[in-house]
Amino acid sequence: MNKKAKSFPLPLSSVVGRTSFEKLNPQGAGKSFAGSQTAIQNKAENLALNAFGRKPLSLPETGWNGSAVSRSLRSMTERLARGGVKDAVVLQAMGQIPRHLFVESGLSGQAYADIALPIGSHQTISKPSTVAKMLEALRIGKRESMMQKVLEIGTGCGYQAAILAKIANEVYSIERVKTLHELARRNLRPMRIANLRLHYGDGMLGLPQVAPFDGIVVAAAGLKVPEALLKQLAVGGRLIAPVGGERQTLQLVTRTAETRWEKIVLDDCHFVPLQKGIV
Ligand code: SAH
Repeated sequence: MNKKAKSFPLPLSSVVGRTSFEKLNPQGAGKSFAGSQTAIQNKAENLALNAFGRKPLSLPETGWNGSAVSRSLRSMTERLARGGVKDAVVLQAMGQIPRHLFVESGLSGQAYADIALPIGSHQTISKPSTVAKMLEALRIGKRESMMQKVLEIGTGCGYQAAILAKIANEVYSIERVKTLHELARRNLRPMRIANLRLHYGDGMLGLPQVAPFDGIVVAAAGLKVPEALLKQLAVGGRLIAPVGGERQTLQLVTRTAETRWEKIVLDDCHFVPLQKGIV
């Protein structure tokens, strides 16, 4: 990772990168789990429920059994660790959230591959390595401790929000597309995650009524980081966001004082665009 530290006044200028580390639908990356699709039980879903300390519920059958899910989650987190993710808290959280529950059943065979997958409305679920890198950057210096209050812009299918709820005490997530907001609600409801609140709205405005946040994760790329989000960071808080158009970089911003924000440019990346308003 190249790290170019910069201090700057508001607003952030956009910095563009060269290549992508997250491409939509890369070829040949899918991995099929068709061989495991025989079980009737709901153990897979219950893994997620137990991850939040709740009693197993009876959920619709998805064709995954508990051991197939555990194996897939383990191999996914091992691959993330081999790929350079070091934060045990992030790896542990990701190892507890079954990703196949967030994609449509026709794609669930590819759910544990390191690829972005379509979730409808021309949007995608971020690939696991991207989620891991973002959350790891957000948590720098936290060691074993939980983050306090975190905001996510771009709920999508709710996958990253569920992981955030494992690493922060309070999580708020905003989605501008109504059908996706509702999809996330449906996906997350059975998990009954008490510390996660979903909002339908324009995330570029943040959530001033709940601010300040000690972490903000933006899951869609704007030409610059929205000023409202920078202002809603607590002093000492961190924001991670993809920035740019065709060429994007992942940027980590730390609010170091009331009127001072410091930016580090991490990897090149490719995210769906951050858009204004609601639909
Ligand atoms: N975190 C998601 C990734 C979703 S992709 C997941 O785990 O699935 C990015 C999402 O950002 C899309 O759903 C898109 O609709 C949403 N988005 C784009 N601009 C937005 C805005 N201004 N406010 C809220 N959500 C936005």
